[in-house]
Amino acid sequence: MMTPKKYAIIGGGITGLAAAYELTQKSRQTDTPIKIELFEKAPEMGGKIITKKDDPYLIEGGPDCFIVEKPWALQLIKELGLEGELLNTSSQATGTFVYDNNALHRLPEGVMMMVPTKPIPFILSKLISWPGKIRMACDILVPKRKEAGDETLSSFVRRRLGKEALDKLAEPLIGGIHAGDPENMSLLSTFPRFLEMEQDGGSLIIGMLKRQKKMVAMMKNRPAPSGPKKTFFISMNDGLGRLVDELEKVIGSDNLHPDREISQIRPSQTGGWLIEEKNQESTDADAVIVTTETYAAANFFRNELPRLSDLLDEIPYVSSATVSLAFPRKAIPHPLDAYGFIVPKIANRRIMAVTWSSIKWDHRAPEGMVLLRAFVGGAHRQELVSLGDQEMIKMVREELSTIMNISSPPQKSWVYRWMQGMPQYIMGHLERLEAIDKITKTYKGLYLAGAGYRGIGIPDCINQGRQAAVKAWESLT
Ligand SMILES: Cc1cc2nc3c(=O)[nH]c(=O)nc-3n(C[C@H](O)[C@H](O)[C@H](O)COP(=O)(O)OP(=O)(O)OC[C@H]3O[C@@H](n4cnc5c(N)ncnc54)[C@H](O)[C@@H]3O)c2cc1C
Repeated sequence: MMTPKKYAIIGGGITGLAAAYELTQKSRQTDTPIKIELFEKAPEMGGKIITKKDDPYLIEGGPDCFIVEKPWALQLIKELGLEGELLNTSSQATGTFVYDNNALHRLPEGVMMMVPTKPIPFILSKLISWPGKIRMACDILVPKRKEAGDETLSSFVRRRLGKEALDKLAEPLIGGIHAGDPENMSLLSTFPRFLEMEQDGGSLIIGMLKRQKKMVAMMKNRPAPSGPKKTFFISMNDGLGRLVDELEKVIGSDNLHPDREISQIRPSQTGGWLIEEKNQESTDADAVIVTTETYAAANFFRNELPRLSDLLDEIPYVSSATVSLAFPRKAIPHPLDAYGFIVPKIANRRIMAVTWSSIKWDHRAPEGMVLLRAFVGGAHRQELVSLGDQEMIKMVREELSTIMNISSPPQKSWVYRWMQGMPQYIMGHLERLEAIDKITKTYKGLYLAGAGYRGIGIPDCINQGRQAAVKAWESLT
């Protein structure tokens, strides 16, 4: 009998768990015994996904939802039999506010990402000035960029929609997804669709309208989707931690090793890989899938593959924190008729955004209470993430007092810090990935995947993890 192939996975975030799940499935489907060892330095699996049940509250420390447009998270959830536990955004509110000029303004209906697609609500909105609106409409006349290739988010938006659209829409809405700085964000690595729209329609507005029309036609011709209707963002009744718990169950606790920190990975003399732990123990494997943050991966290869290590070190990260606060409903004078608000950098405040969590999602707070979640830090205010819990809560309370007029203290609070937690796809990211691929391809059984590479959202991470597992499987069979 052949010895089962050994697969090591480093990092127990959603990417690593998805990779382990894929290998588990492959092994079952083909009746091929394999050995999987997933090493995670933290005591719990899940990485950035942390759901805390603090009865009667449900707190998400990191991500609180994913988009259904990218199919990979939904598909995994269906495979796990959890479709019945999906949670749509609540219908009691809709949309979001933007804080500008000392007031909350509703993001005009029809603004898709940052592109206005409905003239009337856009014209009536007080968020953008008249010159700003006229400049945005000029997008229809601005010629396409002649040069091919990458551009920063800020240069693209300034060119097509003008500075006010950059400051009030693109920076907080689009840059905010990465907690990034539009001045150095690579558009091709983050939102290549904008560049395609410009090339396709000659303008973003026309491109977006064309895309909408195409989607409507596609939906008409498509057989009705199975199961209940899903909203654009989706979560789970018991929070995203439920997905982590189920993956752990399917992968099996024997294969999962929490509290095990890897320090080095090097090619072994037998053609596989030697994985060394901080405590000096080592394990060998035929293939290794590295799903940690890229700076952690850089350390693994520092001695044996220094060029790979240098390239991985070039991917920067920023820090952020989430602060969840529970207030009695009557302590909040605002009607709470949206899912929250975003704060442009130009407003010069100390929070990036606030989700009105228990308005956006059911099952998050008891009747009569409201759960709010503020985002702190990001590319512009990273230093705030180092504040102590009490200082950070005080600071968020001051901001909520100014912006939402909340003066009472919260009944409960929860702080989660993500030091160097958000990878930044800056200019040159795609070239860097190409150079990284070129190196890894010369080694059999080495795969890198996760938020630092090709998509930070949960669906992209799941896709990357599963793809890496398929490649690892194929390389050994
Ligand atoms: C505050 C916040 C909010 C977000 N909101 C959303 C959202 O709403 N929707 C969405 O789609 N995405 C969101 N994201 C992004 C998304 O959560 C992450 O990109 C994704 O979860 C990353 O998964 P991953 O497995 O690639 O990495 P991680 O979850 O970072 O996992 C990597 C793992 O590697 C482990 N590790 C590191 N070094 C070592 C070592 N030496 N040895 C062993 N293990 C090690 C780490 O402990 C970690 O568990 C958010 C992110 C943050 C920080």
